[in-house]
Amino acid sequence: MLLVLLGAPGAGKGTQADVLTERIGVAHVSSGDLLRENRAQKTELGAKAQFYMDKGDLVPDDLVIQMVLGRLAEETDGSGVVLDGFPRTEPQAVALDAALGGQGIDLVLFVKVPEDELVRRLGGRYNCRSCQRPFPEEAAGSGKCPMCSGELYQREDDKPEAVRNRLNVYEQQTSPLVEYYRGQGKLMEINGLQNVEEVTSDLLKTLEALAT
Ligand code: AMP
Repeated sequence: MLLVLLGAPGAGKGTQADVLTERIGVAHVSSGDLLRENRAQKTELGAKAQFYMDKGDLVPDDLVIQMVLGRLAEETDGSGVVLDGFPRTEPQAVALDAALGGQGIDLVLFVKVPEDELVRRLGGRYNCRSCQRPFPEEAAGSGKCPMCSGELYQREDDKPEAVRNRLNVYEQQTSPLVEYYRGQGKLMEINGLQNVEEVTSDLLKTLEALAT
């Protein structure tokens, strides 16, 4: 099973992908996490990506497509994958369809959140350097991750200027994918304004309906 979690930055894709991994055993493949790993390991790809990421721009398609398709090729045990943050442009979606052939992906779960709520969430978001989990500003007071005690920090691209740019980039380059996948009959819309547990429950119900 290959699922895609689609939604704007701050919609909660990463959080929900982690829950799906726990609940239904799919592997979580996040293009943002893969890029941050490349940066941390100072690879050539990481060095190229840094410039775009810190401004909130998209990393060029050819680099990201190669990275994610390479990672997907490593998933050979058949337990399925949830893609988080990829595809983000139409050329990426087309490349994914071409690489998969046949039926392509199984389902796109579109987590929809209004823009003012996204600005509120991203502006106050802190991440753990160790486990990468995001936390709201209220939980970041101690500077330590409530889950693993790692150090909390604000991502360069969660700073106000970059947040505004990321939301524009989403609107212009990623939101057309909603119609792309609707046209394929694969889009399921989830109300991302609900709390984390309610969003998870809707995602799981949607997946159950797919299985029956
Ligand atoms: P994320 O953690 O998904 O918010 O991604 C962080 C940043 O990584 C984005 O703002 C982009 O600069 C870059 N990035 C992640 N996924 C992609 C993608 N599919 N295409 C292009 N750039 C990406």
